[in-house]
Amino acid sequence: MSDRARAARPQLVGYSARLLRDGLAVGSAGNISIRCGDIVAITPSGIGCSDMRPGDICMLTLDGTQITDDSAETPSSETPMHLAIYAATDAAAVVHTHSPEVVALSAARPELPAIHYAITWLGGPVRVAPYARFGSAALAAAAVEALQGRSAVILRNHGAVTYGRDLAQAYDRAVLLEWLARTYRLALCYGEPALLSAAELDEVTAETRRRRYGERRGGSS
Ligand SMILES: [Zn+2]
Repeated sequence: MSDRARAARPQLVGYSARLLRDGLAVGSAGNISIRCGDIVAITPSGIGCSDMRPGDICMLTLDGTQITDDSAETPSSETPMHLAIYAATDAAAVVHTHSPEVVALSAARPELPAIHYAITWLGGPVRVAPYARFGSAALAAAAVEALQGRSAVILRNHGAVTYGRDLAQAYDRAVLLEWLARTYRLALCYGEPALLSAAELDEVTAETRRRRYGERRGGSS
């Protein structure tokens, strides 16, 4: 196993603890993975985010076969969704949360609209994928479908998934998504909020490229 795959273990443990601290998940909910070449390192099923140790992280091949002499734990129940996202995108890390603002929105809206220009970091308005049972192939397929052109998707009555070129970027996007959902809810308190048009979002994307924001970490302004 490569040094990068080995290094993924403490990284995943550290970010799992952050999921709890940042309010993006509770208990053992939420799961994170990193792709290192042909190996995916993923958090285990049923271990609290604050109790996890590097040796609990599961190592899988891209087809989901567990490298069994490496961890005795069972991989996250959402492993099919993580693997489907690696197969369909250039993701190097995937973060799945149960963050409350996003879950609340998912039950009431078909998408998170462009309430703030920062939504361009996620590729634009974020779709809510149709409901399917946790851990199912149907959920994995629905997530991949709704991710087209985006680095984030909201799962109806469930949570959210973000991906990135590394774990730091994927995680920053999960935090941004939750912030955007909260901001949208706050705006709704005043009535129907103004939203940014596709042309306005395109202008932001072009300017971001021009300034080369986002080359390091998630980018912000
Ligand atoms: Zn979940």
